[in-house]
Amino acid sequence: MSSVSKFAGLGLVDPLMRAIADAGYDAPTPIQSQAIPEVLNGRDLLAAAQTGTGKTAGFVLPILQLLSSHPAQSPHTGRPRCLVLTPTRELAAQVHASVQTYGRYLDLRSTVIFGGVNINPQTRSLRGRMDIVVATPGRLLDHVGQKNIDLSGVEILVLDEADRMLDMGFIHDIRRILKLLPAKRQNLLFSATFSEEIRRLSAGILSNPVSVEVAARNTASELVEQTVHLVESHQKRELLSHLIRKHRWEQVLVFTRTKHGANRLADKLSGDGISAAAIHGNKSQAARTKALDQFKSRHIGVLVATDIAARGLDIGQLPQVVNFELPNVPEDYVHRIGRTGRAGSTGSALSLVDAGEMKLLSGIERLIRRPIERIHTEGFDAPRPGPSAAPGKPAPKAPPRGSRFGGRPGDSGNHRPAGRNGRGGGSPRGGRGR
Ligand code: AMP
Repeated sequence: MSSVSKFAGLGLVDPLMRAIADAGYDAPTPIQSQAIPEVLNGRDLLAAAQTGTGKTAGFVLPILQLLSSHPAQSPHTGRPRCLVLTPTRELAAQVHASVQTYGRYLDLRSTVIFGGVNINPQTRSLRGRMDIVVATPGRLLDHVGQKNIDLSGVEILVLDEADRMLDMGFIHDIRRILKLLPAKRQNLLFSATFSEEIRRLSAGILSNPVSVEVAARNTASELVEQTVHLVESHQKRELLSHLIRKHRWEQVLVFTRTKHGANRLADKLSGDGISAAAIHGNKSQAARTKALDQFKSRHIGVLVATDIAARGLDIGQLPQVVNFELPNVPEDYVHRIGRTGRAGSTGSALSLVDAGEMKLLSGIERLIRRPIERIHTEGFDAPRPGPSAAPGKPAPKAPPRGSRFGGRPGDSGNHRPAGRNGRGGGSPRGGRGR
């Protein structure tokens, strides 16, 4: 029990301590140490933390305790006491799984609501006493419209990955939902980035909040080995197959920029004899869950994903992430590589960069405040800089690690304000959870 005792100072009740022990956690993560006591004290919270930091337990544990420590004031069917809003169905499912895991020794009822699946089982699940509802905004409003859910009893509101919700165009849905909540409530807002829009939203929602900010313990920090392979774009797929075979990578998450690109790459890798599947917003929920399960159980070795689809995926400790294409906004690079090196383990993130992506690469290196080491593979040529090549400069030579250009230790650079809308270019709405 000495391991669990590191959680002891946080004031969590025994049923939660037992669930934590079952989960095998040794010690609270920084976000948990900071957030749990404040939430237990009833404070509003503004938290800068992204997936991989343990943020989910940081809000789920104290919420379970608060709800179980006093009975509902007027319990009735479909009237939750806590509402957690998430941008994607995957994240909703994962947060709900955490509610069930950590709440297994408590008598609380919860359900999860998201789009892309039949509404009827959700309607049925809302009949009966309800403590916690985890939902994507669109489908939640559908249930509101059908009078399946009554939000007037919400005591605690959580906005998880608020920046991504705004990116995905959920602001109007969120505002409609806020109008249905009682004015007096506790509010917790989690976001990886803090744009003007997020600050405006949080100012309108949070009351005298405690701010907690944790550097992601992975991302661009020391834990993730980051490399860049400059390569002609037409050679990328062949190079990826070559590297997967050469290094015997068994679990690789590969990012593409588009859904179409994800499909094409997964097909081509399969054609090369490498088991691969694509996961993105156009796939049905069943197909996504199946691909994810196969990847987790190692029946397929390569999961090709778009940024939106991958966001919030809990795939444990991934050893290898590959950027088949760089993202359009540098912050997404930090999110992507945050998929590896999780929970304190080291991971590796490789980016395949062609001539047209050199400007994006410079933007990423500016954001993480360090150059990324270049690697080379015999037979795969770096693109020649020329008039038809990059819109930016030729590849900067990477100074050695630890040079004066290197970022400060632990400075992942991903919590800084990121321009007017936080992430620049519009993101696809295809992955919305409606
Ligand atoms: P999250 O940032 O909430 O998505 O959590 C990322 C991962 O960390 C999940 O797989 C959790 O199960 C795991 N996790 C959460 N808290 C701890 C902890 N205190 N110790 C070790 N792993 C944890």
